[in-house]
Amino acid sequence: MLSRQHRKWLLLGLVSLALLLLAAAAFGRPGGGHSYSGGSRSSGSSHSGGGGGGGDGGFLFELLIFLCIEHPAVGIPLLLLVVVVMIVRAAIQHGMKAWSTTPTEVSAVTTRVRETSAPRKELERLRQSDPDFSLVLFEDFVYMMYAAVHRARAIGVGPLAAYLEPSLAGALVDPSLQDVQGIVIGALRYVSFSGLGTASLQVELEIEANFVELAHNGEQRRFYVVDRLLLSRSATAKSRPFSRAHKLDCPNCGAPLEQMRGTQCGYCRQEVGFGRFDWMLLGLDNQSREPRGPLLTSDVTETGTESPTIVDASAPQRFQELQQRDPDLSWQSLTGRMAHGFSALQVAWSDRDPLKIRPFVSDNLFQSMLYWIDLYLAARCRNVTENARIVRIDLANVTSDKHYDAITVRLFASSFDYTISDDGKLLSGSRSRPRTYSEYWTWIRGSARKGPSRGDLACPNCGAELRVGMAGSCEYCRVKVTAGEFDWVLSRIEQDDSYTG
Ligand SMILES: [Zn+2]
Ligand SMILES: [Zn+2]
Repeated sequence: MLSRQHRKWLLLGLVSLALLLLAAAAFGRPGGGHSYSGGSRSSGSSHSGGGGGGGDGGFLFELLIFLCIEHPAVGIPLLLLVVVVMIVRAAIQHGMKAWSTTPTEVSAVTTRVRETSAPRKELERLRQSDPDFSLVLFEDFVYMMYAAVHRARAIGVGPLAAYLEPSLAGALVDPSLQDVQGIVIGALRYVSFSGLGTASLQVELEIEANFVELAHNGEQRRFYVVDRLLLSRSATAKSRPFSRAHKLDCPNCGAPLEQMRGTQCGYCRQEVGFGRFDWMLLGLDNQSREPRGPLLTSDVTETGTESPTIVDASAPQRFQELQQRDPDLSWQSLTGRMAHGFSALQVAWSDRDPLKIRPFVSDNLFQSMLYWIDLYLAARCRNVTENARIVRIDLANVTSDKHYDAITVRLFASSFDYTISDDGKLLSGSRSRPRTYSEYWTWIRGSARKGPSRGDLACPNCGAELRVGMAGSCEYCRVKVTAGEFDWVLSRIEQDDSYTG
């Protein structure tokens, strides 16, 4: 039985514990927002003792000492609890700092944890019924199919019929065309995903692309298009194995497409059309088509830089899970790799020399860099990003599937940004006023890969000085180093106004 006096002290102890816990909780939310980014730091609050709970802290600390001496039965357990809370709090604070680079500027930006689901995020849930499904491989497939479909407009649908809705296959071909060449995708956006839990899945995508149409009369015309693609697949179909991920073959058995008789495979004898075994194209809807490249020299105002970072709620935990699988993975080494890629990107872009960025980017992103660089070359001008530096990096999302780990960060950077003609005339932008911007960068690495990121420019396979050809292979050992088998490569760049999480 506790005496009346003991109960009084126990009550006081519990009240002070509650206050201490509240003070501790307040430390995790400087500036009022839930932030993994280390956004605005009003100096003192991130150090012990200061902040909102500071005044109460002093009094409570004295009370705690008093309780330990006068009423150890209450005071000592309380002291232990407070110590545990302090340790946990320190760990959380440490964790938060570890997921962001030095927060010196862009202080107004906070993070926003995404609750609603975006189409790309929804699609990822397909892994529950199709464990081999990988967003990275799906996007590779879409690029491959898109290029094949545009070529089919000239050379005929033929065996590609296995991947097309029958009426679409009939309407696609343009008899005036001899060929469609140089198909490069500049952007891929998710519009919607539906059908999870039903018999048929549907994904709608928007693609921005550029290609050259070669007519039978010899005329060549370059087009800039925005297309909507509707893809469909049976919910019971399974993703193809990794070894077949980068070719269009029989959706069922993998026999070469030449084996197709319409939508029936001459090899496995299966009816393979209608999305029974793989994604098929249900609709191709052209949104815009202009006989030119995109505008290169207009001053576009930066939008969205001040908006909060869209952070997936599970990102910090998933990053920790990645670290458990690969103890060499640290935020420091990862952002070091990103900084390396960032610098290479500025040089490659400004010099219009795509090979300089090749070691750091996936095939698809490299294709889209080529698209832009070709446009600048054709227009005889260059976009220069001078004095570029990273201001801050926020962790936004982490996904892992059977084949790839992917880390999306929001990268804040600043640089002079201007476009000059080849004869040195300033066409747009400013050579003296830096421009601050932010983008979402997604980095991927093969999920089997472990170990530290390379900060140097040596081949991760043979150790020679890294010189990579257009296909992403080391010039010495010929091993491909840009599909994420060895190190993190940049696979997507999305602007603030198009990133949806
Ligand atoms: Zn087959
Ligand atoms: Zn090599």
